[in-house]
Amino acid sequence: MDYQVAIIGGGPAGYTAAEAAARAGFSVVLFEKRALGGVCLNEGCIPTKTLLYSAKVLDTARGAQKYAVSVTGTSFDLPKIIARKQKVVRKLVLGIKSRLTAGGVHIVAGEAAVVDQHHVQCDGQVYECDKLLLCTGSETFIPPIPGVDTVPYWTHRDALECKTLPHSLVVVGGGVIGMEFAAFFCSLGVPVTVVEMMDEILGGMDRELAALLRAEYAKRGVRFLTSTRVVSMEGDATGVRVAVENADGPAVIEAERVLLSVGRRPVMQGFGLENLSLEKTERGCLRVDAHMQTSLPGVYACGDLTGQSLLAHTAVREAEVAVHHLAGQADEMSYRAIPGVVYTNPEIAGVGETEDSLQRRGVSYRAVRLPLAYSGRFVAENEGVNGVCKLLLGEGNAVLGVHVLGNPASEIITLGGMAIQLGLTADAWARMVFPHPTVGEIFKEACAEGIL
Ligand SMILES: Cc1cc2nc3c(=O)[nH]c(=O)nc-3n(C[C@H](O)[C@H](O)[C@H](O)COP(=O)(O)OP(=O)(O)OC[C@H]3O[C@@H](n4cnc5c(N)ncnc54)[C@H](O)[C@@H]3O)c2cc1C
Repeated sequence: MDYQVAIIGGGPAGYTAAEAAARAGFSVVLFEKRALGGVCLNEGCIPTKTLLYSAKVLDTARGAQKYAVSVTGTSFDLPKIIARKQKVVRKLVLGIKSRLTAGGVHIVAGEAAVVDQHHVQCDGQVYECDKLLLCTGSETFIPPIPGVDTVPYWTHRDALECKTLPHSLVVVGGGVIGMEFAAFFCSLGVPVTVVEMMDEILGGMDRELAALLRAEYAKRGVRFLTSTRVVSMEGDATGVRVAVENADGPAVIEAERVLLSVGRRPVMQGFGLENLSLEKTERGCLRVDAHMQTSLPGVYACGDLTGQSLLAHTAVREAEVAVHHLAGQADEMSYRAIPGVVYTNPEIAGVGETEDSLQRRGVSYRAVRLPLAYSGRFVAENEGVNGVCKLLLGEGNAVLGVHVLGNPASEIITLGGMAIQLGLTADAWARMVFPHPTVGEIFKEACAEGIL
C-alpha cells in the first residue's frame, strides 16, 4: 500500500501529525501498537489530572468551612475514582479515533518497523511512503538500584490502577510525576516520603517556588529527603525497605509501596531505527533541525523521541512544525516558550528562563515578585492561602521568564508563554486589557511594578 505520509506512534505527536497531514491533503497511514493517544491520554497527562481533580475536590470539600459552607461526612471511593479516570480516558481516546477516521487517516493497530525510509512493515504487510514521521515517544526509566529487580515496585502505571490505598508510600524522584503522585496520595491520607537526589524537588522549575511548594506539602505531612541517594532496596508484596544515604549518613525507609519516578527516556529501539543510520546528538537522541527533520531528508522525528522536553504540548507543536514543513509552509520549532506545569494543589507553572538558567549563562535580569493576593479574584477564591508570581525581566524590560505558584497557574501561564514568544516587554504587556477580576491580572500588576 502506498501513502504520502507514514507515521509510527499514535501519541500526541503522531495523532497531531496525522490529523494535520490529512487536513493538508496528504494520504496518511498511522501505526499504533498499544492505544491511540499514547502515554499522554492513556497513562500520563489525562489520567493523572483526572485523579488529581478528585483529590482537589476532596481538599475543597474538607476546606469548605473556610468559605462558610459546611460539608459533613466527606469521604471518597478509590475504585470509583479509578473507574472515572478510565471513563475519561476512554472518551478522549474514542474522540481522537473518530477525528482521525473522519479526517481520512488510515489507522493500523500493530507494531510497526522501519524497513528503510520509504517502507514500513507491520503484521507482515509492507507500506510504502514518501515521507516518514517517527513519533515513538518515551518509556519509564528504571534506575539500576541494587535490589530493584527483587522488589514489586510501582511505576506510574501501577499507581494509576491502584484500587486499595497503600498504608505508606515512598516516591523515588521528586520531579513532576513524582510530586503529582505524592500530592494525590497525600490528599487521600497516605503517609508519603519523597526521596530526591538533587538539593531541591522539581528540577527545571523555579527553585524558590519549588521550595515553597515543598514547604506546603511538608506542612500536610509529606516527608521530603532531598540531596538523598537511594542506595539499595529490598522487600516483597507486604512492604519495602529503601536504603538511602545523605549528609546525615545512611538510613532505611520502610513503606508498603515504592513508586519509581526518576525519569523517562526516548524509545529508540525495537522498530528498525538502525536501518536509517540517523545522526544522534551528544545525549544520544535523534538530531533534528528546526523543521523536525532528521539527518535524512524526508524523515522527521517529533515528540518525546527527540528528548527535547518530554511534554505533550511540545510533542504537538513539533508535529505541527513537521507537517508544515512537508506541506511547504514556513514554520520553525522554538523551545523558548514551552510552559512547564505541576498539577499539585496549589499548582506551580513556569515558562521561559529561570533564575538558575539566567545565572548559569551570566545574563543580567531583575526578578519582580508579587504575592497572588494582589489579585482580587485570587483572594476571593483562596481563603487563608497566598501564592507568588515572579517575572524575570531583562534589558529594556524584556520578559524572559514567568513563574507562578498558586491556582490556576496552569491556565494563566499561557499568557506568560505568549509574552515570551512574542518578545513583549513588561511595558507592552502591562498595556493589555485583562478581564477583571481574574487571577491573570497579576501579570499586569507585576509588569507595572517591574517597569523601570
Ligand atoms: C504519569 C505521566 C504524567 C504526565 N503528565 C503530563 C502532563 O500533565 N503534561 C504534559 O505535557 N506531559 C505529561 N506527560 C508526558 C506526556 O505523556 C508525553 O510528553 C507525551 O505523551 C509524548 O507524546 P509522544 O507522542 O511523543 O509519545 P507517546 O505519548 O509516548 O506516544 C508514542 C506512541 O507510539 C507507540 N509506538 C511506539 N513504538 C511503536 C511501534 N514500533 N509501532 C507502533 N506504535 C508504536 C506507543 O505505543 C505510543 O502510543 C506525562 C507522562 C507521564 C508518564
